[in-house]
Amino acid sequence: MKLALGLLACGLLYAQPAARLDVDATDAPRRLFHVHLTLPAKPGALTLLYPQWIPGEHMPSGPIVNLVGLKIQAAGQTVPWRRDDINMFAFHVDVPAGASSLDVVFDFISPPEAFGFTEGASATTELAVLNWNEFLLYPQGSQPDSTQFQASLRVPNGWKYGTALPIQHESGNEIEFQPAPLTTLIDSPVSTGAHYRTVDLGNDRGASHYLHLAGDSAQSVDIPPELAAEFKNLVLETGALFESRHYRDYHFLLTLSDHVAHFGLEHHESSDDRVDERTLIDPGPRTLSASLLPHEFTHSWNGKYRRPAGLTNGAADGGYETPMEGDLLWVYEGLTEYLGEILAPRSGLWTPQEYRDSLAITAAALDTEYGRTWRPLEDTAVAAQLLYTTGDDYGAYRRSVDYYPEGTLIWLEADATIRQLSHGARSLNDFCRLFHGGPGGAPAMKTYTFQDVVVALGDVQPYDWAAFFNQRLHSTSPHAPLGGIERTGWKLAYDDVRSEFWKSSEEAFKGADLSYSIGLKVKEDGTIADVALNGPAAKAGVAPTGKLIAVNTRQFNTTVLREAIQAAKSALAPLELLVKSGEYYKTYAVDYHDGERYPHLVRDAGTPDLLTQIIAPLAKH
Ligand SMILES: [Zn+2]
Repeated sequence: MKLALGLLACGLLYAQPAARLDVDATDAPRRLFHVHLTLPAKPGALTLLYPQWIPGEHMPSGPIVNLVGLKIQAAGQTVPWRRDDINMFAFHVDVPAGASSLDVVFDFISPPEAFGFTEGASATTELAVLNWNEFLLYPQGSQPDSTQFQASLRVPNGWKYGTALPIQHESGNEIEFQPAPLTTLIDSPVSTGAHYRTVDLGNDRGASHYLHLAGDSAQSVDIPPELAAEFKNLVLETGALFESRHYRDYHFLLTLSDHVAHFGLEHHESSDDRVDERTLIDPGPRTLSASLLPHEFTHSWNGKYRRPAGLTNGAADGGYETPMEGDLLWVYEGLTEYLGEILAPRSGLWTPQEYRDSLAITAAALDTEYGRTWRPLEDTAVAAQLLYTTGDDYGAYRRSVDYYPEGTLIWLEADATIRQLSHGARSLNDFCRLFHGGPGGAPAMKTYTFQDVVVALGDVQPYDWAAFFNQRLHSTSPHAPLGGIERTGWKLAYDDVRSEFWKSSEEAFKGADLSYSIGLKVKEDGTIADVALNGPAAKAGVAPTGKLIAVNTRQFNTTVLREAIQAAKSALAPLELLVKSGEYYKTYAVDYHDGERYPHLVRDAGTPDLLTQIIAPLAKH
């Protein structure tokens, strides 16, 4: 509905000359980017905005604090600016008589901190990822779909690059892009680097697919052929699942560095995916991040093309200053999490065992989450803009962005329900073709409401879907919805053996996760990252952020602690944990004798194994 209104304005506003945006990234190795903007303007009052609510980040994370050196000129004269007293992202100027444009220069400092999303570290001496929203101001009141920008980029000598933004021409280290609406520009990041490799992932249904690798070393971008083949499978699997593509061509920008923020951010025609430097080399990080690209790729259909009406800012109806409403993120992110995770084994990126081990970890974490009794799932979505940046301590009490992992459980149960009620004739694959289909061929956006989701599911399989979702969204039961696992023939169980997936998670965490035994997550240096609030350690008085010094009077390391937990099975005395909190030491007696416990999925022979069917390939590889 709002999309149509936005399109009406296009014909009028396309007559405006394009803004020009020149970004000089030759100082990227020292984390400085130089911006020169030429904005069409008319004499009089004008307000320039820095993008605040960043699509896909679901919060006002535009890094305005890193904009420095702002100077504005018109017709050769300096134009004073004044920041708005309330909106820190707005600058007021008075365009002088006779001027038809503004020259705006500023620098952007890419921060060194490797956390957060695009506002976090994005440049090293070897590479950079550029998100255009960090390098521009736009006039208040302009429609992002119809405000044209012509961008150019200068990269350091010898650096290569990749992007979905169509190129007009390139010469040396300068790239001139085709004019594009602000929406498309901000939707089309660029990765560039000294160690760079582009892999052709093939053409499917008329669209080409590319994997652009930027890494901190030559080895980091040396992708093994079998992994490249699995990414090609991923392209084929999405074609078989959705039977449509809403882009011209697709570019994975995969950055491999230990010194940039780690995350994935979706776009219509690309994704900005950032992982550890050795992800293509070492099996541990490779397995842990195997569902990242499938997740971000899925967003091109679920999140970008089909989008909750409350998450359309920066598109047709209003600009990047418009707050987002996250209540349907359990569809936007939750369904994407489910599809991304099942696309990983369908493509060969995970073995079926790795998929099940990952699912067991998700299910166990949610099923023991202390905060379930106060915060219903829906509130984690409504409060998304707060939850991405909250601390990890007492994490299970807070509940974080649970619409991702719990989305996996709920959509698995929806898939199982359709398969059971239709006696195997239909599945969630049919919903994907129906809900995410369309003419395709180019980016488009079609918004939806809760009711639209319920109606589309009902078209695939009649059922009371509104009640199904409402019950799970509003529940304050202490336990997670495990019906999807059970209805697909598996059960969550615990034993004293760590799965390979679990070991890789602990290696990445650099510590021991004893959440389901003594109720403690502890780093190798003894820092207590978190406690399970209803677990034995917390009941003995242990709190997060203290430092574990000794176990049964012996100096702590993770092996000493694991062996002490094993030995306590046949002992009567409690485990003694010496913990340093601030400047004080205290010994806590943890009365626990059940040994180590780690989650797994085990087969339930009484129920057909639908899970194995769900993760089997749809396409021919
Ligand atoms: Zn996502």
